[in-house]
Amino acid sequence: MADRINVTRSYSPPAEEYQQYVSKILETSVFTNNGPCLQKLEKELKDYLNVPYLQFVTNGTVAIQLALRALGITEGEIITTPFSYVATTSAILWERCTPVYVDIEPNSFCINPELIESAITPKTKAILAVHVFGIPCNTEAIADIGNKHGIPVIYDAAHAFGCVYKGKSLLSCGDVSTCSFHATKLFHTIEGGAVICRDEAVHKRADLAKRFGHNGDDHYCLGINAKASELQAAMGLCNLPHVKEIIADRKKSVELYDSLLQGKVQRPVLPEGLEYNYSYYPVVFKSEKELLQVKETLESENIFIRRYFYPTLNKLPYLNKYYPCPVSEDVSNRIACLPLFFGMDNQTIVQISNLMRNYNE
Ligand SMILES: *Cc1c(COP(=O)(O)O)cnc(C)c1O
Repeated sequence: MADRINVTRSYSPPAEEYQQYVSKILETSVFTNNGPCLQKLEKELKDYLNVPYLQFVTNGTVAIQLALRALGITEGEIITTPFSYVATTSAILWERCTPVYVDIEPNSFCINPELIESAITPKTKAILAVHVFGIPCNTEAIADIGNKHGIPVIYDAAHAFGCVYKGKSLLSCGDVSTCSFHATKLFHTIEGGAVICRDEAVHKRADLAKRFGHNGDDHYCLGINAKASELQAAMGLCNLPHVKEIIADRKKSVELYDSLLQGKVQRPVLPEGLEYNYSYYPVVFKSEKELLQVKETLESENIFIRRYFYPTLNKLPYLNKYYPCPVSEDVSNRIACLPLFFGMDNQTIVQISNLMRNYNE
C-alpha cells in the first residue's frame, strides 16, 4: 500500500543548515535565556512580518495567555469565535476568564462583527478573534467596535504567518496578535510562538510575565516560564529563509486542487487585496454524511483528511453556558482540510481529487 498521507507534514530544512547552528550551540553552551539565536530570530521575524514589537515564546497557546496578562486581564468575559482550534478557548479558560461566543461569517469562517456589539456587557474585557486558515477577519469593523467601547482586540493569528492584507501585515492588527510556530504550521520552530504588540508598554509586560515576572531580585508581577530555547530559535532561523519557497510550492498545490475540485465542494472566499499564505486547504461538503463518506473512502487509500475545526468550540463539554452559533455549528459539521504540505506531489493531489469526485458513483 502507498505511504500514509496525512493532512500535513512538517517542513524539514536541509540537515547541514540546522547542524551548523546545533554545533555552535554545543560549542558555546548557551541553550536558553535570551540567547543569540533567539535575539537574531526575533529581529528577522520583526522584519519579515513588518511588526513593531515581537517576542518569541514557547508556543502559541501561552502566547494568547501572555497577551491577556499583558493587557491586564485576569477575569471577566472575552468575546471570541467558536470556529477555531481548541487552544483559542482553553487559553481564555486557563486564565480564569469566561469565553462568550459570537457566531462566524459563512464565507470567511471568521467572527461576524455585526454580532459582536450585542454580546458586549459591563464584564467584557477583550475581543479575541482568529484569522481562520489565514483568511483575514474584518479587522476594520472589529477595531471600530473595540475603540467605541474601549475594549482591546487580540488576534490569534496562528494561521496568518506571512499574510498581507491591503498592504499591511495581518500580524500587525489589534492591540496584540499571537502566532504559533508549532511543527505543523506553515513556518515552524518545532514548538514555538510569538506575542506581537502594538505598544511598547504592553510588550514589556508580556516580556516580564514570560520570564517569572522579575528582573534580578526585583519582582514586579506574577510570571510564568514561556522562554523559548536556542534549539527552537535555530530551527526558526533555518526555516525562515525557505518560507517564500514553501508558500510558492503550496500555492501551486492549491491551484491544482482548485482546478480539479471546481464545483464539487465549497471553498472559502478570499477577499480582494489579500496576499495569501496557502496555509490550509479547507473544503465544505454539502452534508456531514458526504464528508464522512469521502473521509472513509480516502482512508481506505491511506489518505487522511482532518475535520478542522470540529467540534465547534461553543459546544465543548466543560463550558458552563451554551451560546448558540448556528453558522459555526453547521460549517463545523461539514468542513475538512485536505492534505497540503511542502513538496506534495501532483500525483497525490490528482488521486485525492479523483477519489473525491467519484466517491458516490
Ligand atoms: C496551532 C494553533 C494554536 C496553538 O498553538 P500551539 O503553538 O500549538 O500552542 C492556537 N490557535 C490556533 C488557531 C492554532 O491553529
